[in-house]
Amino acid sequence: MNESVKERIRHLVGRENCLDGELDLFGYSYDASFVPLEAKQRPELVVRPGTTEEVSQILKLAYEHAIPVTPRGAASGRTGGSIPVAGGISLTLDRMTKILELDAANMMVTVEAGVRTSDVYDFCSTQGLFYPPDPASWKFSTIGGNIAENAGGMRAVKYGVTKNYVMGLEVVLADGTIIQTGGKAIKNVTGYDLTSLFIGSEGTLGVITKAILRLIPLPKMRNTIQIMFPNLEAGCLTVQKMLVSGITPAAAEIMDKICLEAVSKYRKIPINPEVGSCLIIEIDGNYEPEIERQIEAIRSIADDFDTLSFRVAKDSKETEELWAIRRGISSAIASLAPDRIGEDISVPRSAFPEVVRRIESIAKKFNLTVAVYGHAGDGNIHPSILCNLKNPEEEKRVHEAVEEIFESALAVGGTLSGEHGIGITKKPYIRKALGDSGVATLKAIKIALDPKGILNPGKIW
Ligand SMILES: Cc1cc2nc3c(=O)[nH]c(=O)nc-3n(C[C@H](O)[C@H](O)[C@H](O)COP(=O)(O)OP(=O)(O)OC[C@H]3O[C@@H](n4cnc5c(N)ncnc54)[C@H](O)[C@@H]3O)c2cc1C
Repeated sequence: MNESVKERIRHLVGRENCLDGELDLFGYSYDASFVPLEAKQRPELVVRPGTTEEVSQILKLAYEHAIPVTPRGAASGRTGGSIPVAGGISLTLDRMTKILELDAANMMVTVEAGVRTSDVYDFCSTQGLFYPPDPASWKFSTIGGNIAENAGGMRAVKYGVTKNYVMGLEVVLADGTIIQTGGKAIKNVTGYDLTSLFIGSEGTLGVITKAILRLIPLPKMRNTIQIMFPNLEAGCLTVQKMLVSGITPAAAEIMDKICLEAVSKYRKIPINPEVGSCLIIEIDGNYEPEIERQIEAIRSIADDFDTLSFRVAKDSKETEELWAIRRGISSAIASLAPDRIGEDISVPRSAFPEVVRRIESIAKKFNLTVAVYGHAGDGNIHPSILCNLKNPEEEKRVHEAVEEIFESALAVGGTLSGEHGIGITKKPYIRKALGDSGVATLKAIKIALDPKGILNPGKIW
């Protein structure tokens, strides 16, 4: 990018909102993914627009000069989506954080794309309204990043994922054109469903600047149950039987023995050594008897699978205590090895136990430690390979194991990603999942919307 283009951008958004110091550029060369350092590339300019009009002007310039633009939210992505692999502009939405309108009559909220997910939740809940998508990163992830990745969360089993709450978008296209998609009408079949097209598009089709989000009434009460089993299979089967019986929990999170031992050590939580898996269930509703009925039904189902313990939180302190195991997993397992490759396969719910068994045999085959946890209620499994990537022989085994894990998901009708997207890290595998014609269709859409390929180049394929 030449200096005169940089100067024009500085003029557009203000000098203070353009960064190009060495350390700044380094800071914007990574996200929360496990992408090796050599794949990381510094942007030439970090630009922090404050309005949609500014985003549009920046893209017009970038389009004219064929400058790569990588949209960026909070960079909490797990697949390298906001790493500017082709240099150019890192377009960060961190100044566009306004909650613009709460439409209580229609139960919808309109927000700028850079607002934090938990801020939307907190704001709506003060009005008795509920924005359910809750990625574990919600204290820092942005709504724009959630939409671009179609983020899920623990509540997906009952309430669905981000796409189930997006009614409409404002998007700036590659050439700077501003479009509105969808709207507040619940039923809408006017032309192609462009809102859905941009959801999960990982910043490759347009820059999302605003979103209209659907809300629902906030459930009045919730409770947490923690169940310990002798093995992982028993926990998976409990969830399956519970869902088939008509009980849909707000969350059903499962973790294996490796995770439990790691959390026990890391957070100093004593755990019975006979425990092979832990299931944490959240139930919610509006009436006490409804909550009690669900607890008793879950207890009776779990009893068929040799539970080692069944705890129901008595108050908010105990709720925190029961959830502490799940919340502690990420950092606890990361402390077990120099590197951690965290995957995100998603499979039909009924195949969860079978895929977990396959992952266990893949771990044995490649002599690797693979911790398994996930959203058992919706079939989203996070196998985490604990390894040392500085050892080239081990690195090779890790890549082979990852490939087999993906194959095991595809073999049962599952997919490569439940919530983290493809980004850079899963690029090599996408053809296996979608086939040549599937990938060609994605590319045709990309070329139609971004003929010069300036938006987030190097991602998805
Ligand atoms: C500890 C931790 C826990 C996590 N837990 C979950 C979880 O439970 N569920 C889950 O789904 N994910 C989870 N993630 C992954 C991540 O938080 C989500 O993918 C999140 O949606 C990314 O939001 P972000 O604002 O950080 O986006 P970024 O990481 O900045 O960007 C992600 C992608 O979106 C694009 N993008 C960002 N903003 C825009 C925009 N305005 N317009 C167009 N494209 C844009 C970027 O180019 C990039 O491709 C977790 C990550 C961490 C670190």
